[in-house]
Amino acid sequence: MKDFPPTSYCPFLVSKMFRKLQNWFMPKKKKHSAEFTQTVQLLHMLEVTQEDEIACGEVHELLDQFTEMQMRGENVNELMPLVKRHLDMCPECFEEYEALLAALEFEETL
Ligand SMILES: [Zn+2]
Repeated sequence: MKDFPPTSYCPFLVSKMFRKLQNWFMPKKKKHSAEFTQTVQLLHMLEVTQEDEIACGEVHELLDQFTEMQMRGENVNELMPLVKRHLDMCPECFEEYEALLAALEFEETL
């Protein structure tokens, strides 16, 4: 695209149009960022609640997947943060996890 903005356009009109476009894409920047912060806070609260509510049964169901992912060198802390947190808090599940990990490691040596 050459010759943009067209020189025949009034520069004042061009800047006015540009500002209008800006308002479409980022309406009331300040308000938007406040809402964004609220959303992040809400998501964080939700995450914390879920962390508290995840049950041992759920962790057991995910444990196979979790250990296999870890064996593949994937970032389980990021992919399954709830399971990771539960393992940090729950010695029973951690024991299960260690046993599973040991079994997988043993399989790999065969
Ligand atoms: Zn548990």
